[in-house]
Amino acid sequence: MSDSVALYYHIPFCKRKCIYCAFYSVPWATEEVKDAYLFALLKQTASFPEPREITSVYFGGGTPNLFGPRRLDKLLSEISKRFHLTEDCEISMELNPGISCFEDLHAYHMAGVNRLSIGMQSSDDDTLTLLGRNHTFLDTVNCMNDARKEGYGNISLDLMFALPGMDCGKFEKTLSDALNLEPEHISAYSLQLEEGTPLLMAKHNYIFPDEDEEEREYQLLCSRTGGAGYRHYEISSFARNDHVSRHNMHYWQCRDYIGFGPAAHSYWNGKRFSNKADIKEYIKEPLISNDYDSAERLSEEEMIEEQIMLGLRTDEGVKASLLSKKKVSILMEKGYLFLNDNRVRITERGWRVSNSIIGFLLA
Ligand code: SF4
Repeated sequence: MSDSVALYYHIPFCKRKCIYCAFYSVPWATEEVKDAYLFALLKQTASFPEPREITSVYFGGGTPNLFGPRRLDKLLSEISKRFHLTEDCEISMELNPGISCFEDLHAYHMAGVNRLSIGMQSSDDDTLTLLGRNHTFLDTVNCMNDARKEGYGNISLDLMFALPGMDCGKFEKTLSDALNLEPEHISAYSLQLEEGTPLLMAKHNYIFPDEDEEEREYQLLCSRTGGAGYRHYEISSFARNDHVSRHNMHYWQCRDYIGFGPAAHSYWNGKRFSNKADIKEYIKEPLISNDYDSAERLSEEEMIEEQIMLGLRTDEGVKASLLSKKKVSILMEKGYLFLNDNRVRITERGWRVSNSIIGFLLA
């Protein structure tokens, strides 16, 4: 397995909180707070223990484009000094289309960003409003056009399905609108009711699609993207011309990555650990996050479980020798798994119930 590392930088600023969101982020921060946060990220970056080869850097959030081009440029140039970034290193940035402008897209590109992940979510403006998103579908169209003009050749659109008030007809429209924009990559997730979110607290005010409707929308997602030439390479991910998310594949292949910033997770030399979800503490003492030494190493058994859980999410699957033959044949008979080249993979039908499949295989 390659010795390369991926870096994740959490930029935990949002203009306002979307009602379904449980990610760690803080509302609109002052310029001083952002500068102090940049300083803390630089400090943690400089303290990294081993300068191994980096094949992916990902700025996620939150809303990374609230950090602004000047800070991102400074951070990326320090990352390049501290680490060896491969020539084809994927440098991704999540973008909220509501606050994107051409000048910033140009500056991010000049700083080295070569992949964008735009949070479109839906093309239905009423649904976007209901979710608390601060943009319209037209913002996504403009953002996409600006990004193409600037020369970005690797763009992903994030979509959501199984949304309140949605049905297959409305989701079909979102899919068509997304496909018309010809992104290299699409990620699509069903809405989840997460602990502590306003949506969960007010769930009785909404009509949610039932499981059958959710299933139909997922099937629609798979068939429309497949028909448009996208490879369904992970439960929720679809890529054209091999533009898979290198960063996410790094996670799913159980390779090392380091997370910078509050609430960021790391997997490093067989250890998993995460930073405390508290930006104030992080700014005060970012090196507390360098938990490389004290984190507990995963046991051999836990590592194999991780390989199974993460590998089965993708169309690469896992080595057959890691799984019980008896359980595999039961699931193959039901049409949930298939075997090829000594690797076990989940079928398209099985991906919707992958949690149950993986639970059964690990039990
Ligand atoms: S913009 Fe993204 S991170 Fe921020 S609140 Fe909305 S979903 Fe959460």
